[in-house]
Amino acid sequence: MPPILGCIADDFTGATDLANMLVRGGLRTIQLLGVPEEDYSLTNIDAVIIALKSRTIQPSEAILQSLKSLKWLRKAGTQQFFFKYCSTFDSTDKGNIGPVTEALMAELDVKFTIANPAFPETGRTVFKGHLFVGDSLLSDTHMNKHPLTPMTESNLVTILEKQTQGNIGLIQHNEVEAGPTALKNSFKKLTKSGFSIAITDSITDKHLHMLGEALADFKLITGGSGIAIGLPENYRKSGLVNLSQNASKLEPVKGPCLILSGSCSQATLNQIAEFSRDHPSFKLNPIDIDLNPNAVKEAISWAQPRIKKGPVLIYASASSDEVKLAQKTLGADKAGSLIENAMGSIAKTLVDDGVRRLVVAGGETAGAVVGALKIKSLQIGEQIDPGVPGTITIQEPKIALALKSGNFGTKDFFQKALKIMP
Ligand code: ADP
Repeated sequence: MPPILGCIADDFTGATDLANMLVRGGLRTIQLLGVPEEDYSLTNIDAVIIALKSRTIQPSEAILQSLKSLKWLRKAGTQQFFFKYCSTFDSTDKGNIGPVTEALMAELDVKFTIANPAFPETGRTVFKGHLFVGDSLLSDTHMNKHPLTPMTESNLVTILEKQTQGNIGLIQHNEVEAGPTALKNSFKKLTKSGFSIAITDSITDKHLHMLGEALADFKLITGGSGIAIGLPENYRKSGLVNLSQNASKLEPVKGPCLILSGSCSQATLNQIAEFSRDHPSFKLNPIDIDLNPNAVKEAISWAQPRIKKGPVLIYASASSDEVKLAQKTLGADKAGSLIENAMGSIAKTLVDDGVRRLVVAGGETAGAVVGALKIKSLQIGEQIDPGVPGTITIQEPKIALALKSGNFGTKDFFQKALKIMP
């Protein structure tokens, strides 16, 4: 049997977040990094996720990569498709959530789908179409200062309308509460009234389960990883998969451990403060990297003797004032790419030196690191924190990886990751 579910994720940590959800639901899941150029053995695999780095690139390029991924997944035989984006709806003004969704809909000949970033377990809820992070509207959180995708609007209908050609509808919480059968009718009504995408309120996991059941016949679903919570049960009910108790069992990987962080999100800044209290840590700054051609080499030389004795942390993560200064001095794109390239080079050199366990904080940063290591595929293991599983590479050398979206994880995330990645 080919895998049942084919997913396209717009960044690397987002892909592992979705994989984590599917594995916890009992689906044996692999994650492929970038549009695959080859075929993979998909025996005993229930779900495949193609992780792109398409969140902030030009919409036309994001569409191209997403359609190529779709083509590969269709060839692999998957029957239901999922476009995964961030639970904080991270997108640029031009896209890419809207344009990619519409391109996938056109290719699959889908007239209606939903957009749902809710992930109540991590505090992301949608109420009357507005996205909340914890107790605050999205636009009142640190996300309004994100270096690449500042989110200054919380009304998801408004955001998506700007990014799409079609009409954006809203299914409110009372309609979701009415359950799967009523929801199917709401979908039909919206389709008849000319809406092509609906934002769906979701405040609790129960809402996501009810929506999940109502989506059983959808060819395309879009959202954060939360909305995938109900899908494994649909496949079990229809006899398409036997859910596995051991979907998260991985072989342990041993070897030195490196932690890299390019995320400036508040959760990551807290994790860095906590970890660096009793572990060696080194701070990189894009302005220094621009001025000093040896800055990256110096970070590597700093790490080499220390990493033999225990885990080390190298980070560029900085307060919003520091980020502003770097962006003013260098431009936002250059500041970001200097850090991403630096993290990639550091990872490559230290893995060549024998590092076998790697924790990376930041979606873009993780994308740059796995790109530099030419990692093509990952098997997904046990959850470290909501949204973040341990993983290992499918190809040799086996490397244990934890790729964390900036916003995720408790204060002691890095310590927990080291325990779970034996
Ligand atoms: P998150 O998951 O928190 O969004 P990302 O890695 O996706 O983290 O994005 C953070 C972006 O900020 C990256 O492009 C990174 O290179 C950039 N960045 C990191 N540190 C700095 C800094 N000190 N100054 C400017 N930009 C930075």
